[in-house]
This record gives sequence, C-alpha cells and structure tokens, in this order.
Amino acid sequence: MREWVDFAEIKRRIPLERVLRSYGVDWLRRSGVDQYRGRCPIHRGQGKEAFHANLKRGIFHCFACGAGGNVLDFVAAMEGSSIREAALRLQDYGAGSNTSAVPVTTGWRESKLVTKKIRINPPLDFALELDRRHPYLARRGIAGATADHFGVGYCGHGLMRGRIAIPIHDDTGQLVAYCGRAVDGDEPRYRFPAGFQKSQVLFHYDRARVAGGDQVIVVEGFFDCMRIYQAGFCCVVALMGARLSPAQKALLAVRFRRVLLLLDGDSTGRAATSQIARDLAGACSVTPLLLPPGVQPDQMGAEEIRLFVAGEERRLTIEAN
Ligand SMILES: [Zn+2]
Repeated sequence: MREWVDFAEIKRRIPLERVLRSYGVDWLRRSGVDQYRGRCPIHRGQGKEAFHANLKRGIFHCFACGAGGNVLDFVAAMEGSSIREAALRLQDYGAGSNTSAVPVTTGWRESKLVTKKIRINPPLDFALELDRRHPYLARRGIAGATADHFGVGYCGHGLMRGRIAIPIHDDTGQLVAYCGRAVDGDEPRYRFPAGFQKSQVLFHYDRARVAGGDQVIVVEGFFDCMRIYQAGFCCVVALMGARLSPAQKALLAVRFRRVLLLLDGDSTGRAATSQIARDLAGACSVTPLLLPPGVQPDQMGAEEIRLFVAGEERRLTIEAN
C-alpha cells in the first residue's frame, strides 16, 4: 500500500527558506520585501538574477530554465524525483525539535535535471513574416506601434495563412507559438498549434515582468491585452481564456504583489473573476475591476480604459478607508 502524504500540510508547514538553506543556497539577494533573487540552484546555468523566490509565499521561479513552484517542486527538481517522492522526503522535516536540515540524500547533483524533463512549449526555430499594417488590425483598433510591439500581423502563407498571427512568448521571452485569429468569420476563431499548452504561459508576461512596478492588469484575450497596453498600461497580461492555471498563478505570484482583474463584463467573465480572485487570494492582493454588462476591454477606447481604471481605483480607495 502506498504511504499517505499530505501535500498541502507539507507546503504549509515547511518554509522555503529552510529548504533552500539545506541545499546550501545562501547566495540569494533581497530584491523586495519578501523577494530574493540570484543564480538558479536547479539549472545552475547562466543568469545571475534568473532565480526568483518569494519566501513569504513559499514559491520560486527561474526565468532561465522555467522551473518553478513551491517547496515540493523545488525538492523534486533538485532531486530529479517526483512530487510524491519529494513530499515523502520532506514529511518528517520539522516534526521533531530543532531539525536544522531537510533530510536530502544527494545534495548537489551534476546531472542536468532540467534537460531530462520533456520541455513544454519548446522555442520555435522560425519566425513568420507578417503584414503589421493589415486593415483588420486597424478595424480592431490596434495602432501600428502596438502591432509592432506585439509583433502581430497578417499571415499570407503556411498554417496560419489568411489569419492574423499573434506571437506568444514564454516567461523567458522565447517565441513558443503563434496563434492565428480568423479575419473573415472562419472557424475556429483562434487557432493554436497542436501540442501547445496555453496553461503554461501568460501572454505578454515576458514584457510585463520587466516593465517595472509590482501591479499587473490581467485580461482574458489577446486583443484586450493589446488595447490595455495601448491605453498606456504596459504591465498587462492575458490568460488566453477565462481560467487561471496553477502555472499562471505561480507566474503572477512570484513577480507581482497586486493583480487588477479586468475580465469581460459577461456572465463567463463575472464567474471567472470570482473564481480567480478566490484562487489568487493569499498569493497576491487581488482587485476585481467590474466592467458593465456586455462590455469587453477590446471594445473600449484608450481614454475610456484610462478613465475606467482610474475611477475603479478611486472607488476602491474610498471603500477601503
Ligand atoms: Zn533555473
């Protein structure tokens, strides 16, 4: 019979800081209230600042190798083991008094743990040539400079032929996919490449994370994201749907303190807003911005967006006082 392990209890009880220490990770430098960064102990490759950890929330993320998660994920990555094995290893940790180190067996390993994993959403080895001044973009209210920033444009050939191709980058900034938006009512409206896992990425995250500030606006779709960016909010990401995956949650929590949720003003958007706000609570401070029924960010003008966000922030400040 398999031994029972309570993953949630282990995550609650065992601080990431102690686990890091027990692996000899003593070189992280403080970069925020509870945030630390430094060389990644998992892939140990390039990127002196690649590994980010939030000790209060007990989560980490490496912007070079893509490893990330909680204490269990950390031990699993270091040991090259499953999450369950990591949990068993951590289970007795801290149960007795003054346990100073996690009972790890191997410590540093020379093997390349990360490359052993099958890489989800591997980088593309090509880039499409696109027409960034196609009339469809103007019809959707996307200015030339915005199309240039996002790299979107009309594709004349290949799999995305006859569609607006939207490049998607992972958190490290690598191009991992193109999504094709139909321009003439073709189905599906959005075509993702086979095998692409959108739950593992947040659209525009690679740019938002370096935009400075600790607040991010989260929207549903690509065009919402482009419109919000165009209204002057660089720190915006899209879920590519109305659900927040665990990987997306970790990406948000490791980098941002405050999330402004700006989903569509329809019933799906409303339900998703409550669900995501509940899910993110404890990881980030979440502020739902509720659009009037039937309104979506991609239908709003830049001035309208600015007024709405400013108005909502004012309202929330008044409510908080
Ligand atoms: Zn790494």
